[in-house]
Amino acid sequence: MHYTGTIWRPPYEASSLLLEATAGCTHHRCKFCTLYADLPFSFKMSPIEDIESDLKEARYLYRSLPGHRISRTFLTGANPCVLQYNRLMKIAERIHTQLPEMESIGCFARITDISLKTDGQLANLHKAGYDGLTIGIETADDEALRFMDKGYRAADILEQCGRLDRAGIRYSFFYLTGISGAGRGEAGAKATAAVCNQLHPALIGANMLTIYPDSELYQEIRRGNWTEESETEKYREVRALAESLKIHTVFAALGASNAFQMQVELPKDQEKLLAFLDDVIENVGEDRLRRYRESVHHL
Ligand code: SF4
Repeated sequence: MHYTGTIWRPPYEASSLLLEATAGCTHHRCKFCTLYADLPFSFKMSPIEDIESDLKEARYLYRSLPGHRISRTFLTGANPCVLQYNRLMKIAERIHTQLPEMESIGCFARITDISLKTDGQLANLHKAGYDGLTIGIETADDEALRFMDKGYRAADILEQCGRLDRAGIRYSFFYLTGISGAGRGEAGAKATAAVCNQLHPALIGANMLTIYPDSELYQEIRRGNWTEESETEKYREVRALAESLKIHTVFAALGASNAFQMQVELPKDQEKLLAFLDDVIENVGEDRLRRYRESVHHL
């Protein structure tokens, strides 16, 4: 299999076939981000021949495991969804030819990737199997989106994910707790919930900001342009998000950046979740949470 650098995937794609369609990120500018820093380039597309040979290898391996059935492919890279429509269709066609049992194809996507496709193209991509995108919206706090150089605004999240809803393509969000900065966490969470409440994310996964010295954000802090939230404020922010969400969705905090792992259904488990977060805020304490943050040497 062709795999380049560190491969990132959402926790819920653990049993998917990881197929390298791209490596790196076309944006590569978010100030907090240190992902894909191990690559000697910002972004590259995999040649179709490499994809095809990986699919043949996967077919051979899966068929040699009796009783094993694979039904989902996850295209790797920060945003394979940026690929042109024709290329995405060609990749889907190769997947279905080599592995006819494959039911769906997912990948990470940026909001700006969706805006590159017409409504008709989104509908055709869905018919070709694309479903269950993971979008790192991070927040719908416009001030934070601008400062962090995410490259879109809250209104774009609303518009582009509304288009996914209409095309029938399901999606999950990654939220970045702490992105709004000291004193603004709860307001950022409420602004995000207000946008999510108008959409249909299958899951909202909260990750927690962990700042590394090789990030642009670290330099901004040194220049005095930005202040990190305390760890307790980050948990108050998660609580504000969980409390403000009014939609049916799964709320999760699963990655290593979270001191406490959780996954619940909203609104069914909302009270239980809020009680758990209150307990963390009141009883765990800043020192213990900070020690956890300092122990997260990489994501
Ligand atoms: S956060 Fe995502 S979109 Fe932003 S630079 Fe990192 S990989 Fe790219």
